[in-house]
Amino acid sequence: MTIARPNPRPTAKPWIAEIHAYVPGKSKSASGKPLVKLSANENPLGSSPAALAALAEAHVAADYPDPDAKALREAIADVHGLDPALIVCGTGSGELLHCAVQALCGPGDEVVCSRYSFSLYPLLAHKVGATPVFAEPEGYGASVDNLLAAVTERTNVVLLDNPNNPVGTFLLPSEIVRLHAGLPSDVLLVVDEAYGEYVDPAFQTQAFELAAAHENVLVSRTFSKAYGLASERVGWVTGSAHLIDLVNRLRGAFNVSVSGQKAALAALGDQNFVERSRNHNATERARLADAIAMLGNHGVSASPSEANFLLVHFEGAVTAAQALAALSDAGYAVRHLPSQGLPDALRITIGTTEATTDVIATLRALCGEAE
Ligand SMILES: *Cc1c(COP(=O)(O)O)cnc(C)c1O
Repeated sequence: MTIARPNPRPTAKPWIAEIHAYVPGKSKSASGKPLVKLSANENPLGSSPAALAALAEAHVAADYPDPDAKALREAIADVHGLDPALIVCGTGSGELLHCAVQALCGPGDEVVCSRYSFSLYPLLAHKVGATPVFAEPEGYGASVDNLLAAVTERTNVVLLDNPNNPVGTFLLPSEIVRLHAGLPSDVLLVVDEAYGEYVDPAFQTQAFELAAAHENVLVSRTFSKAYGLASERVGWVTGSAHLIDLVNRLRGAFNVSVSGQKAALAALGDQNFVERSRNHNATERARLADAIAMLGNHGVSASPSEANFLLVHFEGAVTAAQALAALSDAGYAVRHLPSQGLPDALRITIGTTEATTDVIATLRALCGEAE
């Protein structure tokens, strides 16, 4: 007997067919010259020397890593005053965000996020057949009222990056508490703190407290940004025992490599590097923001940022495309985000002191403001 098979080749689920492959930022100019990347929010100071030393140590490549990343979870718990049993490590925080959405959403369900937020969020929804729903922002940053208004009976997850990427805006802890208080108790609130280490230390702990006190809050952190270990792919989440159990069921069994666990562990022990990264970022971000504020009469402005980048808006004679080209000519790759609905803006990562100086000079020259 032949079984009727209408498709001539393996055929994707319709929601998978809708997904576009990730388009990374450029790291070469039109002429093929390598560019300094100010396009992926990487740490311009590199990595902690302690992490680099740990990576240089030999290990047995033939052996699987610790599947539970026990030593790393204990060190994370130590630094942040958390329970190691309520932490899961992942292949970057991205893996764990995926697990959370996968555990709670399928076709017909809705995932709410702010209109301008991490480009991964709609992808996470599409991967499981759910529908991303975009709440209108306030200015460009997330609006708690609009996020709450976007929640329907189909909503299972609200994803909030705080600070936000690509805008850089930050909601104060009181606003996060207000958002959580307005959600039904069966809707998961994910507070994605990928840039959490760049924020004023006074505002770095409240999301953890919310996650410890409620069953529907997950907080994610990463070693990819302030810890300068993007290549090692290590992130983590903390939340209630129920949420941690769900994420543990779905994550990869050996999801953090031996070198990733070692590097992250050593990096945690060098909080001095994190503090240096935060201070460097605050200084250079303020310098770039001040210079951009002086170009206001040319229609150039930046959204307020607590992260390691500025979203720069070009609403006058100089366009974002022109600024992108001029910065490329000067040797710098930045992020143009027309596909995220921001055709008139560039996201510029805060780089070295030299990079900030060059970016300022390039933007001033483009606006006809001689030095
Ligand atoms: C960079 C970033 C992450 C981190 O992703 P990893 O998978 O940990 O490298 C998470 N969320 C946001 C908003 C980011 O910008």
